[in-house]
Amino acid sequence: MVAEGEGAAGRTASPQPPDLLRLHEAIASLFATQGDWQRAYQHLRSALEIARDGSLRDALTSSYNRRYLDERLYGPFTDRLPLGLALIDLDRFKSVNDTYGHLVGDRVLRRVADLLQEDLPPGGFCARYGGEEFVLWLPGVDLGRAVRVVDDARLRVARHPWSELQPGLRVTISAGLAHETPGSGAPTSPERRLRHADDLLYAAKHAGRNKVAYQDAQTTQLISHSE
Ligand code: GH3
Ligand code: MG
Ligand code: MG
Repeated sequence: MVAEGEGAAGRTASPQPPDLLRLHEAIASLFATQGDWQRAYQHLRSALEIARDGSLRDALTSSYNRRYLDERLYGPFTDRLPLGLALIDLDRFKSVNDTYGHLVGDRVLRRVADLLQEDLPPGGFCARYGGEEFVLWLPGVDLGRAVRVVDDARLRVARHPWSELQPGLRVTISAGLAHETPGSGAPTSPERRLRHADDLLYAAKHAGRNKVAYQDAQTTQLISHSE
């Protein structure tokens, strides 16, 4: 499939402040010196939770990182099917870096990650797959809903007022959406899920970028449409 768009949206990333971790550690030490082990333990637990969350987050964008994605991909599959998995890649991002510099490129990546994380279904998440590629994990949604979620994300990016960040800047994304339904045969391996999404992403790029490609369940044809 295919589509395109323009508009506005945005929200800032909300990384866990590292100071909170140190604060919990300091309070735990204080309680420990007073022999209040229960409270010391509670604060150490809080510090541990913050540290664990930090280890699963991408340092630049605060979205989940590849480690978290791999845990979900290769760990025990606890989500219910259907499952949508979209591989998303920024269009012509190298030229953003070349034209405006890597610092602007980094700010674009942060903003795109924020836009991608809006309006995900319950249990859904966004992870930075690497470089300028992200994955959207969309459990419990049928194909039509998954397509809408991914295409809405594409539109949010295309319609974002990028020129406020840098005059003349425009940013779009392309996406390949793999979708699995219950009873559709043997469970799909993580590699196959990713490869399928990657093939569809390639199709979206090939079709001109700023598009979402997915496979229709009935015709098993790659379908594409513009707005
Ligand atoms: P396409 O539409 O085909 O995807 O073209 P592209 O230019 O986006 O693709 P290409 O793979 O040539 O370029 C990806 C660029 O992403 C190159 C690399 O410098 C940039 N990039 C990857 N990670 C980061 C990052 O963390 N920060 C910045 N600023 N740039 C990054
Ligand atoms: Mg890429
Ligand atoms: Mg790219």
